[in-house]
Amino acid sequence: MQKRQLLNIKALSLAIVALFAVPLASGGNKAVPRLIFPVVGPVTYTNDFGAPRGRLPHQANDIMAAKKSPVVAVEDGKISFWTRSASAGCMLYLYGRSGTMYEYIHLNNDRTMKNDNKGKCVAGTAYAKGLKNGARVKAGQQIGYVGDSGDANGIAAHLHFELHPRGGRAVSPYRYLKRGRVLLFAATRGAAVSLTLKGKLVEADSSSQTLSMRLTSLSTSTGLRLNKLSRKLTLELSPDTLATDNSGSDLSPDDLDSLASGAAIKVTTMRAPATLAAELGSPLALTSSSVTIPA
Ligand SMILES: [Zn+2]
Repeated sequence: MQKRQLLNIKALSLAIVALFAVPLASGGNKAVPRLIFPVVGPVTYTNDFGAPRGRLPHQANDIMAAKKSPVVAVEDGKISFWTRSASAGCMLYLYGRSGTMYEYIHLNNDRTMKNDNKGKCVAGTAYAKGLKNGARVKAGQQIGYVGDSGDANGIAAHLHFELHPRGGRAVSPYRYLKRGRVLLFAATRGAAVSLTLKGKLVEADSSSQTLSMRLTSLSTSTGLRLNKLSRKLTLELSPDTLATDNSGSDLSPDDLDSLASGAAIKVTTMRAPATLAAELGSPLALTSSSVTIPA
């Protein structure tokens, strides 16, 4: 009886090993895919891979960003929390479907916007709300928040981002970050979201039902606010769009079409399920609901 139990346990542990080994082995020969950029909102970074940092050369690129900026999965995969490293602070591993492994280090550990260190390495503080250890995630899905935990404490908030092809040694993520697809915003996939977009008009064309703008700030109905943006965005200009000047007077489609390029503009988008295309701000993935022009 005892022996049989032992055999069962052995069989079970082999099965568990096989379960973990299969995704790595099957994805092991694939190249690093084109990534979704891991941070949403304004960032700065340089190729600081290999820079001297204490005992070891730097194994990552440090992506500087505002504290609590959304951190997202760069590809589909499975995440694993890690909370027991004094130097890394709150971190997680993303085991990408391609076989590439990514490390996200110094995630947020502050309750407020100050450096209070009162938050724990838990979902809602370091990790995305409701995210569970071991969860499968989709490319672009929020998995955490930028912070300064571990040995980044009190130093500027940033994401220390490592990239390990085939789960092996770290290589510089720089060229993958440079080619990364940058999200306009992050929201729970499928959740109904409306955006408020401020910036300058590039062109409105009611006949082709398009509106292009250079975006400077954004807020979502789910509470995300991003400032200091600079990107061009082309929306679908719905014929039902409510267009007004700042005094509240209605504007006709012709008025919109004849507006000068560079005019200040505020656009709200139709509430719609958050898709990856919408989150990327892909052309015509968002549809206008209202347009306001200062008088
Ligand atoms: Zn670093």
